[in-house]
Amino acid sequence: LVSREHHSERSTVRVAGVPIGPRTVTLIAGPCAVETLDQTLAAARMAQAAGATLLRGGAYKPRTSPYAFQGLGERGLRILAEVREETGLPVVTEVVGAHDVETVASYADMLQVGTRNMQNFALLQAVGEAGRPVLLKRGMNATIEEWLMAAEYIAQRGNLDIVLCERGIRTFEPSTRNTLDISAVPVVQRLSHLPVIVDPSHSGGRRDLVLPLSRAAVVAGADGVIVDVHPHPEIALCDGPQALVHEDLEELARSVTELTAFM
Ligand code: PEP
Repeated sequence: LVSREHHSERSTVRVAGVPIGPRTVTLIAGPCAVETLDQTLAAARMAQAAGATLLRGGAYKPRTSPYAFQGLGERGLRILAEVREETGLPVVTEVVGAHDVETVASYADMLQVGTRNMQNFALLQAVGEAGRPVLLKRGMNATIEEWLMAAEYIAQRGNLDIVLCERGIRTFEPSTRNTLDISAVPVVQRLSHLPVIVDPSHSGGRRDLVLPLSRAAVVAGADGVIVDVHPHPEIALCDGPQALVHEDLEELARSVTELTAFM
């Protein structure tokens, strides 16, 4: 269902009217985690001012340590809905368990399945039936074939509104959190009709890498970029070192626009 075999044209997925697909580079930005209404609204305004058309933000956080901030849960979803009301930005947010899909889908415009859950088949089947577009991140240890099969689980339940997100894979290199597999963009576009975007924030884990990796993504043909922003990264409850501040995001957006025009 997701292969290009029976779809010669690449697909466009619409998230509350916002297109992700060929001939456009969609900018998605927002906080890694929803912490407070003020923080989320400030991040959303930064995103919107820079030209982002979708708001990201996690209310359910899949953290490596059980002692780390786990997200606000449904309270975080209510904040996202309030910020959408204020700004008009549709919301992309992660769902970490099949039992939460209905709740998250009742607030979100797009459901995110994170790297750690790429092969959580019960979750994939549940989001396939949720009636919302899905952002499917690549498992950090997954091959492209495994990633596309995960998408197939969603599609098989009747939902073809799937956007794939390359977010880095685990390699022997410790300088970055994960290694962005930039070649995945053209490889996947050749194999699948689904749009492919890149997350340079979670792959590198470092603010200084977000701009160069975003540029690389656009030049490689990505259909969008999803980045973390925070009004005060130094006090962020989650992934502050990779969060962009206002000026960084403006520069990134300018760069994306220039490169898109050039291509
Ligand atoms: C996220 O986007 O908030 C996230 C946790 O990403 P990943 O699943 O790619 O680590």
